[in-house]
Amino acid sequence: MSENISNTHVDGLEENNIENIVIIGSGPAGLSAALYAARAEMKPLVLTGMSIGGQVALTHTIENYPGFPEGIGGAELGNLIQQQAEKFGARVEYDMATSVDFSEKPFKVNTSSKEILAKSIIIATGADPNHLNIPGEKELTGRGVSYCATCDGWFFKDKDVVVVGGGDSALEESIFLTRYAKSVTVIHRRDELRAGVILQNRAMALPKINFIWDSIVKEIIGDDAVNKIKIQNVKTKEETFFETDGVFIFIGHKPNTAIFKDQLELDDQGYINANSNMQTSISGIYASGEASDPVYRQVVTSAGMGASAAMQAIKYLENEA
Ligand code: NAP
Repeated sequence: MSENISNTHVDGLEENNIENIVIIGSGPAGLSAALYAARAEMKPLVLTGMSIGGQVALTHTIENYPGFPEGIGGAELGNLIQQQAEKFGARVEYDMATSVDFSEKPFKVNTSSKEILAKSIIIATGADPNHLNIPGEKELTGRGVSYCATCDGWFFKDKDVVVVGGGDSALEESIFLTRYAKSVTVIHRRDELRAGVILQNRAMALPKINFIWDSIVKEIIGDDAVNKIKIQNVKTKEETFFETDGVFIFIGHKPNTAIFKDQLELDDQGYINANSNMQTSISGIYASGEASDPVYRQVVTSAGMGASAAMQAIKYLENEA
């Protein structure tokens, strides 16, 4: 049982040691939900997941979160929202939800060490990067293959790297990688980028960035570290080898919703189905951020969804009482 669940009264745990609101996940959605729930004196419990901050903590600089004209570091922003939520009474536990049971009330959330009972739940488990699933990718991850330029870019100082993908992430991270790398070659499977025009223009203006169009990476090759890749032109079917020191993969994300699969309605890509009030298929359970948003995926939209989910959870608890 949770160390917070005891016979003594703990704020946030009402009768029968039941939490008011458990927030699963600690990215911008989860921490913003915590802030709103805490300010309503709900003493929410946040389960951080594997690490605090979610994907944003791996982002070097966020330039489009309102209020920071000079940009702000992703980890710093997460840290500030956490401090703000804790100031109002949110409790943040470094623990991971491993299974849930939403079939009856109170809802149950199991972690590796305990079972937590909750009157309402806010899911903010975010999303993880997609993999190419090609030979060499898994074997060379951490040895030249990466999904995070902020984390690993420094290791490629004066080296040649490729970036796979043609969306906003691929271009944003390519631009970031030019700080370190000698060259950044973007490999895209079509001849037209998915990324927005502003990013396209910025990337194309940088002499270090080159593009290989209509091509997919079929294999990543190297013994101790990446030294080349096999590329196929999808139009001509011609296969060539391309020498590189690093392969950064930015080809979209998949939501972290496996533990909710048999409990809540998900869409065919695994995103949680939630209505405009963030309510899932079960009353009292709300979803926010990238776990339920395949479209916007911005820090500001995730934070807004977290705030909305908390406001709805508060309303739900008031009506239940
Ligand atoms: P995305 O928009 O889904 O783009 C994924 C890219 O990867 C696409 O170009 C896609 O090619 C390519 N791709 C997918 N699967 C592939 C495969 N198996 N092999 C090769 N290429 C593959 O993903 P994202 O760039 O991560 O962005 C996700 C969302 O976050 C978007 O809504 C984006 O606007 C947003 N975002 C915004 C910002 C910003 O505003 N600063 C920054 C990052 C992300 P196709 O184009 O051919 O489908």
